[in-house]
Amino acid sequence: MCTTYLACSIINQLKDIGISIEDYPRIIRLNPFARFKTRGNGGISFKIDMDKYDGEKIDLAKKIILENVEKLSEMSCENTNPGVVLYKGDITPEMENYAMKAIYSIISIKEAEDFAEKIGAEIHKFKKGRGIIGSIAAIACPLKDYTYELLTYRNKENYGKKRQINEKSVYEMDKKATDTFENIDINNDYIAIEPKTPCPILYGIRAETVDGLKSAKSLVEVDEPIESYCIFKTNQHTDMHLQNIAKISDMEKYGCYIISGYVKKDPYVIEGGHVFFTLADDSGVIEAAAYEPTKEFRSVIKELLFGDQVQLFGGIGCGGTFNIEKIKIIALNKKQHFENPICSCGKRMTSAGKNKGFKCKKCGNKITSSEKIAVEEKRDLVEGKFYETPVVARRHLAKPICRMQN
Ligand code: ZN
Repeated sequence: MCTTYLACSIINQLKDIGISIEDYPRIIRLNPFARFKTRGNGGISFKIDMDKYDGEKIDLAKKIILENVEKLSEMSCENTNPGVVLYKGDITPEMENYAMKAIYSIISIKEAEDFAEKIGAEIHKFKKGRGIIGSIAAIACPLKDYTYELLTYRNKENYGKKRQINEKSVYEMDKKATDTFENIDINNDYIAIEPKTPCPILYGIRAETVDGLKSAKSLVEVDEPIESYCIFKTNQHTDMHLQNIAKISDMEKYGCYIISGYVKKDPYVIEGGHVFFTLADDSGVIEAAAYEPTKEFRSVIKELLFGDQVQLFGGIGCGGTFNIEKIKIIALNKKQHFENPICSCGKRMTSAGKNKGFKCKKCGNKITSSEKIAVEEKRDLVEGKFYETPVVARRHLAKPICRMQN
């Protein structure tokens, strides 16, 4: 079951008993390169001001939360291992560190359980209870940079059916609602607000502000009922998963990084259209990849040349390859080829034989030097510029270039 829908439904039931949550519920996305993860690899959290309600009501809230998770989770699915964490108190720096570890790297269920005990949080595991890892992170994650996401939900009888969204209205919304981003991928003719899985979500819009979301929602036309909607505050599109790291040799598998280096070998393409190149620094080398799903981004990577200085944003997958989400061109190497010299008469000269210089076929002129002339070619890439994967291939956490000033 879609965790956001579960949270939305719980929050509505809490409202029915007179409990409102503080601020917006949060979607916190974790390391996209973790091995055992749900599709979106995230956790949801929300906060209740306990001073506002008596103990009886809080107990009732707890009952609603746990019953809904139990009832609405698809427990038969092997990958569904929900967890609920209840925590009362302030968020400590130690908890923030835990959250950052869950976002940067990997935390085991055991580690999460031990940590919950240490901070005095109450945990509820369903099956393996892997969800507690992300739940603690969702509670503890500091949000300096954040975005909002509005999710609308379908009527149950429409689950699995084609979504009735007017595509033209989405293009219109994308133009008018300037506060939003990643609504569509024009080059790939892809409506990004529409999920491609049979989940309860009708569409999701991402924006800088809540007002931006509300006006965007009013512009999207749909031909099916919206059962409910919910606005979440989130670390999506913030690059929060990336750590600056100085040396290639210090990077680890499943880690997410910003790393600088130079192109050690010209890029090459393998079967399936995946593009690779070797990034190097004084400490070591790593293979970096732009896979086929990243579409036109691959043509950027193919333009790289030996000696180019670049900064890569992304993470290391299970194969040990660095998956590029974004690249900044620091400095470009010269691209040149060599040509025979031009004769004083204007005609290009031809070789007079190995180490015998050049001759002109038109006027008979000869020169003794065999050195060809270097001709510099224009590079298509631009120094100082960022290039990113298209919306169709972008990860939740990746910060789009349009947000790089935030
Ligand atoms: Zn000549």
